[in-house]
Amino acid sequence: MPNFKNPSSPADGYRGRFAPSPTGPLHAGSLVAALGSWLDARKNQGQWILRIEDLDTPRCISGADQEIMRQLLACGLSWDEEPTWQSKHQERYKKALERLNELQTTYPCTCSRQSIASALEARGVITDRNQEMVYPGTCRPQEIPSYGNQNTPSTEVAWRLALPPDLTLHFQDLALGKQSQNLNREVGDFVLRRRDGIFTYQLAVVVDDAEQGITHIVRGADLLNNTARQIHLQDVLGYSTPNYLHLPLVLDEYGEKLSKQTLASAIHTENAQQALQELRKAAEHLGLRDLPDGKDTSIAEWLLAATQAWNRKIISS
Ligand code: GLU
Ligand code: ZN
Repeated sequence: MPNFKNPSSPADGYRGRFAPSPTGPLHAGSLVAALGSWLDARKNQGQWILRIEDLDTPRCISGADQEIMRQLLACGLSWDEEPTWQSKHQERYKKALERLNELQTTYPCTCSRQSIASALEARGVITDRNQEMVYPGTCRPQEIPSYGNQNTPSTEVAWRLALPPDLTLHFQDLALGKQSQNLNREVGDFVLRRRDGIFTYQLAVVVDDAEQGITHIVRGADLLNNTARQIHLQDVLGYSTPNYLHLPLVLDEYGEKLSKQTLASAIHTENAQQALQELRKAAEHLGLRDLPDGKDTSIAEWLLAATQAWNRKIISS
C-alpha cells in the first residue's frame, strides 16, 4: 500500500491563493482558476491571497499585474491581504537554495537544452520539441558535496535538485482522487535556479506557499504534473504539504489548453454585465448549475449564490 502523505491542517484555518503569472490579462482559463480557488476559500470561510508570480521576467508583460487585479475586482473576486510579488522575495529563495546546498541535495549543471537532447538521443530517447525532457543526470557528481552558500551567487550554472533513487510520490487530489508520479522516470533532477540566475517556478512556489501558510492549493489541471515535484521539495525543506485540488482545463476549439501562448483572448470586464457573463461561463465550466442568470442580480449576489452552490464533488461530474 502506498503511504499517502497527510496534508497539513493548521490551527488558524484555511488559506488559499491565486498565483497568476503577469504574462497577459486574465483569459477564460485563468478566470476558472481564480473563481474556483476563490469559491473554495469562501465556502470554507478561508482567506484568499493574491500572489503575482513575476520571476520569469522575459515572459512578464509590464502592467499585466495591474490589469489582472482590475479584472479580478471587476468580477468581485477580492483578496484578503496585500498582494505580494515574487520578484520581491529573492532573499527567501536564495536562503532555501542555500539550505538545499547544505543538505547535499543540489549540484551545478552547465547543460544546454541541446546537450540534454543529444545525451538523451544517445540513449535512444527521442523527445519532441514541446515535451519536457527527463534530465539524464549528465552533471550529477557521484558523491554530492555540501556546497554551502559560496557557489550560489554564480550565474554561470543552473542548480538542480538531486533526487533520491526510485522516488514515487503519492498524493490525494481533492477533485481527481489518488495521484502518483515516479519523479526519476518522469522528471529527473529538476532545476531550482536557472543559468540566467532566475529562481524556477518549482522552488519559488514551494517556498512562498510555505512562507504564506497556504493550506489549500486550487489551480488548473495543467499544473497537476508539477505537484509531485513540489511535494518532494516540501519534504526536503521540512515544510508541511498543503491540500491540492486541480480544476478542469478550458480547452480551445482545437482541444489545446488556453494560454497566452495560444493567444487566448482576455475576458471582458468593462462593465458589470460583461463581468457577470464571464463569471457565469467560468462557473458552468466548474460544474455549477442553476445559478441566477444575472439579469436582475448583482455580482455580489451572484457570487454568494455560487459560493452556496460550490461543492468539490461537482467539479469533475
Ligand atoms: N503562476 C502559475 C501560472 O500562472 C500558477 C502557479 C500555481 O498556481 O501553482 O501558471
Ligand atoms: Zn548538466
